[in-house]
Amino acid sequence: MQTHAPGIAYGNGRSYGDMCLNPGGVLWHTRGLDRLCSWNAETGMLVCESGVLLRDIQQTFVPKGWMLPVTPGTQFVTVGGAVANDVHGKNHHAMGSFGDQILRLWLARSDGQIIECTRGQASEWFFATIGGMGLTGVIVRVELKLRRISGPWLDTETIPYGSLDEFFGLSDASEAAWEHTVSWIDCLSGERTRGIFMRAKPSAATIGPLPKSGTRRMPVTPPVSLVNHMTLRPFNIAYHRLQRWKAGQAVAHYEPFFYPLDGLLEWNRMYGPKGFYQYQSVVPRAAGPDATREMLREIGRSGEGSFLAVLKTFGSRAGPGMLSFPRPGVTLALDFPNRRDSTLRLFSRLDEIVLAAGGTLYPAKDARMSRRMFESGYPRLAEFLPFRDPGITSSMSRRLLGS
Ligand SMILES: Cc1cc2nc3c(=O)[nH]c(=O)nc-3n(C[C@H](O)[C@H](O)[C@H](O)COP(=O)(O)OP(=O)(O)OC[C@H]3O[C@@H](n4cnc5c(N)ncnc54)[C@H](O)[C@@H]3O)c2cc1C
Repeated sequence: MQTHAPGIAYGNGRSYGDMCLNPGGVLWHTRGLDRLCSWNAETGMLVCESGVLLRDIQQTFVPKGWMLPVTPGTQFVTVGGAVANDVHGKNHHAMGSFGDQILRLWLARSDGQIIECTRGQASEWFFATIGGMGLTGVIVRVELKLRRISGPWLDTETIPYGSLDEFFGLSDASEAAWEHTVSWIDCLSGERTRGIFMRAKPSAATIGPLPKSGTRRMPVTPPVSLVNHMTLRPFNIAYHRLQRWKAGQAVAHYEPFFYPLDGLLEWNRMYGPKGFYQYQSVVPRAAGPDATREMLREIGRSGEGSFLAVLKTFGSRAGPGMLSFPRPGVTLALDFPNRRDSTLRLFSRLDEIVLAAGGTLYPAKDARMSRRMFESGYPRLAEFLPFRDPGITSSMSRRLLGS
């Protein structure tokens, strides 16, 4: 990779903001780096190129009894993108983040140098690149460890709850025995916040419901957002009723449990031409209940609303990268239709709550946080900066780092 125009790696474009955008510059599309290079069926060590999709790893290795130990809420993500954001799954309390599963990285710098790094060799490059937002170079190859599984099934339980205290009680009580925990929250339900808590663990079942076959796709972009003042409350009520009806224990295939949105391709079109923002925060566990309550109150007052609202606790392990987002605490992720100034005004008020609680935002989901907010949430930034590649820049790096 030798180039004179500043560029940035572009994986599968599944980050929500401007971290893989570079108007006026170059995007290095990595999907062509799609080879599985070596596989050890004794140890589960896989070496692959960085443009391989997580879906391809799952589909190749699940039938062989192996799986990615950590996977985000979509499998349409490249391995390089998953490293660059040190992505997390629903099992952070049990397995940590994606970076925790990485053994070796091969990094191409814009001056043509290739750096091979591990936890023990050129380790500062390793820890700068995990969660490094693509700014240290282009990851070309990755060695990672898969985990053994007895099949594609999960034992799941769906539990409706009626307050934030109940949510935190369920989270604390589930972490020891349930590998995966997550919850949907009705952010319009007022002071007695209701939601649906879902937990799961690997199952020994040998049979279960297969995921629906065939690809469904949002067929058109409607002229206005389908998620709006008129639809949001009925959407949330209907979703809550449906999930209440499904409450209880079940065996589920890993795909619908891990990747519920992958069942409808281009679902983002439902937000219409103005699109949407996601706002994902993390605050320390002790501040979690009050900060979450305050954010929900602020959202209620603002008249903005979110259909896809996810509340989850992270485990005690901080991500390994210098700029990793996952850290002990409570993370709240909310999608909002883009209503321009009024949405941005709400985010500024949410920022103050997150900052006061000692929290921060997830760059993978961000398109507007301030430099002040980024600097205060990522205290190892000064340690990271010397590892930046001078030939790499993105819209996000210019916004948050000035270049
Ligand atoms: C429906 C949905 C659910 C999601 N759920 C989760 C979740 O549960 N947890 C979570 O953590 N995230 C989640 N995400 C976010 C997603 O996992 C991350 O944004 C991921 O990094 C996207 O990977 P990508 O391959 O699409 O990369 P892109 O979006 O194309 O790029 C993301 C960043 O990675 C860098 N990058 C990509 N490839 C390389 C490379 N080869 N070398 C160096 N840098 C590279 C880019 O420069 C950019 O900075 C979700 C996203 C969606 C759409």
